[in-house]
Amino acid sequence: MRIVFIGPPGAGKGTQCKRLVEFLKIPHLSTGEMLRAVKSEDTALSRWVASYIDAGRLAPDHLVMRIVEQRLKQSDCLAGALFDGFPRTMIQAQLLDDHLAENGLKVDMVLELAVVEDVLIDRLLKRAVSEGRLDDNRETIHERMRVYSTQTAPLVEYYAKQGKLAVIDGMQDAEAVFHQIQQRVTQV
Ligand code: ADP
Repeated sequence: MRIVFIGPPGAGKGTQCKRLVEFLKIPHLSTGEMLRAVKSEDTALSRWVASYIDAGRLAPDHLVMRIVEQRLKQSDCLAGALFDGFPRTMIQAQLLDDHLAENGLKVDMVLELAVVEDVLIDRLLKRAVSEGRLDDNRETIHERMRVYSTQTAPLVEYYAKQGKLAVIDGMQDAEAVFHQIQQRVTQV
């Protein structure tokens, strides 16, 4: 099964994805993690990628798609994949659909984790202290929220029209959120 997980920064996607991949036994494809791995190298590409991540802006669509395509070639992805933080733009959604269609595959389900903005900012500022992520500062957080509502939120509509969307209430505790997710994915 191929699942796209959509949610604003701080919605708790990372936590839920970890549990969901264990439950479904499919690989977790986090483009945020993949791009941070590229960023940690010492190359011209890594410095280029860092300039986007550190400003809270999205990396270029085709670069992200190339990284995802490489990952999808690995044999563990034959069983399916959980896409976390990807696609994040309409172009990425179309690139993903095209790539999967070329291989006779499709996105089976889209989970949207919904949380109100004040709660998100609070959670991210706490994470800044606990995990020390450079992009978890007030200015970058606001930029990532703005990017989410302008570039990523339209995907919700795109997938809803295809009848693939399941909205999950992300305001409850992690256990209750996971319970809702389990219920939805087992219905597919
Ligand atoms: P969060 O969801 O908390 O913003 P992520 O780890 O998903 O964190 O992403 C961190 C950063 O990595 C983003 O702000 C962006 O710069 C970059 N990034 C991650 N996924 C994508 C993507 N699909 N397209 C473009 N940039 C991305």
